[in-house]
Amino acid sequence: MNPIHPDDSLCYLNGEYLPLSGARIPVLDRGFIFGDGVYEVVPVYHKRAFRLEPHLDRLQRSLAQVRIDNPHTRDEWRAIIDRLVRSSTPVDLAVYVQVTRGVARRDFAFPRNVTPTVFAMASALTRPSAAQRDAGLRTISVPDARWLRCDIKSVSLLPNILAKQAARESGAYEAWFVDKDGNVTEGGSTNAWIVTKDGELVTRQLSNSILGGITRRSLVKLAADAQIKVVERPFSLEEARGAREAFLTSTTSFVTPITKIDGKPVGTGKPGAVAARLRELYYGYMGSPEPGAA
Ligand code: PMP
Repeated sequence: MNPIHPDDSLCYLNGEYLPLSGARIPVLDRGFIFGDGVYEVVPVYHKRAFRLEPHLDRLQRSLAQVRIDNPHTRDEWRAIIDRLVRSSTPVDLAVYVQVTRGVARRDFAFPRNVTPTVFAMASALTRPSAAQRDAGLRTISVPDARWLRCDIKSVSLLPNILAKQAARESGAYEAWFVDKDGNVTEGGSTNAWIVTKDGELVTRQLSNSILGGITRRSLVKLAADAQIKVVERPFSLEEARGAREAFLTSTTSFVTPITKIDGKPVGTGKPGAVAARLRELYYGYMGSPEPGAA
């Protein structure tokens, strides 16, 4: 039995709720054949979906960008997610939602009259441990070999997978993608931030080069409300290496400090005060205490 997805955990597939172990899709599904689909990950804290609407907005946007009609109304999406949350034992969850173009004879161009495949599952939320948060994470840098539409949350994730694997093999948590100009775009599955030597809080501006993280968006707002100035601009790997602090953000990684880039310490080599303050603001916004917080 898979410990992450116990056989009896319920999932949603094309209108049905069934045990994950029994869910099947045809091999001609274009998600399987071409990676022709998009996804979302919605966080749930204490059984309540957090920032659900921006996640559903982003799903809608990803679908529109790849020209798949949204197969569900907002209410239907809410009902699917709600049912999966109610049927799950853990109270903190990550609900994964995937829509592919559907099942059709293999042909690159879109098939006609195809019904999208819809799949959703809820898994226990695994966040960085208190030890990782307190010591900080390591990141490595890799060339950004992705396509030019990283703003779409596509299930085609080969460059991200290879980057995250390279990170894991070198004992790091994340890989930072570096573009042809030497600037950091984002991490394999997280947004990238630094606090410069001059105390400027910097994250790359939204564009097709990065995914518009929902956590990123929350933090830009929370920081502004707390009179912490955020500058949205590119920053180079060199600047990051010489920064006072670095950290990453995502739905499942929250706000977690980075203390080493390519094996070299960032700033003092210890997690910094700005990341700690932002994490505090974020947990306040979630309305859920940080596990293991001092
Ligand atoms: N960038 C990439 C490439 C990602 O996969 C993710 C995770 N979805 C993020 C950034 C962070 O986005 P969010 O805060 O919405 O989880």
